[in-house]
Amino acid sequence: MCVTVRCSNRSGPLSGSRGRNRSAYTGNAGDWQKPARRGFETRERVVPVILKICEVGNPVLRKVARSLSSDEIRSKDTQSLIGYMRDTMRDAPGVGLAAPQIGESLQIAVIEDKAEYHKTLTPEQLHERQRVPVDFHVIINPQIELFAPADLSFYEGCLSIPRLMAMVARSPSVRVACLDEHGEQRVIEATGWYARILQHEIDHLQGRLYTDVMQPETLTTIENHQKQTSVSNQSSQQKEL
Ligand SMILES: [Zn+2]
Repeated sequence: MCVTVRCSNRSGPLSGSRGRNRSAYTGNAGDWQKPARRGFETRERVVPVILKICEVGNPVLRKVARSLSSDEIRSKDTQSLIGYMRDTMRDAPGVGLAAPQIGESLQIAVIEDKAEYHKTLTPEQLHERQRVPVDFHVIINPQIELFAPADLSFYEGCLSIPRLMAMVARSPSVRVACLDEHGEQRVIEATGWYARILQHEIDHLQGRLYTDVMQPETLTTIENHQKQTSVSNQSSQQKEL
């Protein structure tokens, strides 16, 4: 998911500001190999490859992505793609990125919620979101099961829907059966914000966006949301005074 990181101080990790120095990636299938030939690795250091993120309105975001075989997962092309997705997610920054978001209709998503993304959240906000750091990992061909009703609402954003955010109700507890980047079976049991990230990213693999399930009256720009939050904080301070 692209849960917002820079605005995640208020919303969480599914979207983020746009990265800099993006490559000339066009978002068309197959084009992601091109940056590798231009110097993904040099003798001196590994150079991040930043792909263009497809935005809402691009049909690839509405397709049900296809699953991969274990042999495909272990192929050089898929391993390169996973590396580029990791670089692109970190550059955005975001806490998740699904392959359709970079123009590949494949059942792959990368996830990472770094502790440094939490610095602007208060302990109370972290607690209510049940948000804890999550190490980088890859989910492929995921099957998700909700362990609780989808009735916990927080603001979400998405790297494919820039500048906007809205309240989305998600289940606080899920189990995901999937393959990892080595083609090995994994079962993930997640709660809180991590469960939200998984639901958001797996929705992408099914051609769904958070706007399909948001509370529509809460849709706002990140800028306006921050203004509202600021006014709300001032009012609360005035009450305390
Ligand atoms: Zn997203």
